[in-house]
Amino acid sequence: MHIGIAGAGLLGRLLAFELTRAGHAVEVFDPAPGPLPPAYSQGPYAAGWTAAGMLSPTAELESADANVFELGLRSIALWPGIVAALGLPVELQHRGSLLLAHRGDEGSARRVLDLLRHKAPAGHAPTPLTIAELVGLEPDLHGAAHAWLLPHEGHIHTVQAMTALAHTASAAGAVWHWGVAVQRLAAGEIHTAGKVHCFDCVFDVRGTGARPAPGSGDGDEGFGREVRGVRGEIIWLHAPEVTLQRPVRLLHPRHRVYLVPREGGHIVVGASEIESEDRSPISLRSMVELLAAAHSIAPGLAEARVVHTETNLRPALPDNLPHLAQEPGLVQINGLFRHGWLIAPALVEQALGHLAGLPARNTRQAA
Ligand SMILES: Cc1cc2nc3c(=O)[nH]c(=O)nc-3n(C[C@H](O)[C@H](O)[C@H](O)COP(=O)(O)OP(=O)(O)OC[C@H]3O[C@@H](n4cnc5c(N)ncnc54)[C@H](O)[C@@H]3O)c2cc1C
Repeated sequence: MHIGIAGAGLLGRLLAFELTRAGHAVEVFDPAPGPLPPAYSQGPYAAGWTAAGMLSPTAELESADANVFELGLRSIALWPGIVAALGLPVELQHRGSLLLAHRGDEGSARRVLDLLRHKAPAGHAPTPLTIAELVGLEPDLHGAAHAWLLPHEGHIHTVQAMTALAHTASAAGAVWHWGVAVQRLAAGEIHTAGKVHCFDCVFDVRGTGARPAPGSGDGDEGFGREVRGVRGEIIWLHAPEVTLQRPVRLLHPRHRVYLVPREGGHIVVGASEIESEDRSPISLRSMVELLAAAHSIAPGLAEARVVHTETNLRPALPDNLPHLAQEPGLVQINGLFRHGWLIAPALVEQALGHLAGLPARNTRQAA
């Protein structure tokens, strides 16, 4: 099939990779200037670059449902095969993740743990650790009074994976239209400035960009109108003296804070979750709260260097759950919110499974 993809973020790149791998002819459209990590001062770019890359089906049950959990488990099983097929190295770990709580914060921690125990299937509930067991796993974590292990979780290096997916899809023949925004789309059609591109099937994976511009008159673009952006801020630390093997979350009464290790002595500290589409740089309050919380469980971070901060918008639908809609010639996926890396491989697998059974736009017209 000849397939058009609107959006070269996480979903667009994963689709391009899987579709070229399956032998389809693929063209991808995105306003970004190219496939490489963005110059962060330039306009909006994919949330996929900014994500910390936690693959946390159980911990995310605090805000997600059983479907996200199942998609997450399936994706964790799919990621190793995807990464092995990429033409560039991508850091992917599956050593579990940790939940920590300070003395005095037992009330809020208990609420989260009760919720996870209630929602997680047998075998996936948090396992309590003694502090000696915690230090055995992560010698550089000090200060927390309580710890739990979620053994089935992992993390992926999102910048490496975004780069490698585009690189590998290109090598397999994907054609990229960089600097080209999709203005409208419909079954089998992608409209860019002054041009209509025809395909057997079109994938709409524009994230927050799926929302039609005010006054554009575009109406029938599925759930695009309902998409909103949820601001998230993260901080990259260079802390070669602090060794972390797995993501760590602090169950704090006021904010959720996590630390995710990345190769090269880096740790990503995140993330705020603010109902705003403001993409301006991180606020002082978020910076202070995130870093104070991180330092409270990893005191060795005192001499870490803040090397980068980043703000982006998570694409969310009103229920904060992912949605996939399919009709002949058009597939739309959106609303991945804070779970894109966790669930994208399984969602793409679902979408491509249905694709085989869908009559293509051209076939339907001919019929
Ligand atoms: C701070 C932060 C932390 C996160 N942490 C995690 C995490 O730890 N784990 C996890 O699983 N998820 C995490 N996420 C969520 C994850 O990044 C998103 O769910 C995921 O990126 C959504 O993928 P997407 O392809 O739908 O959208 P995006 O990755 O945003 O891609 C959308 C693409 O569409 C393009 N586009 C926009 N408008 C147009 C147009 N008109 N025409 C063509 N293309 C267009 C954009 O340029 C972009 O390239 C985090 C997100 C943020 C912001």
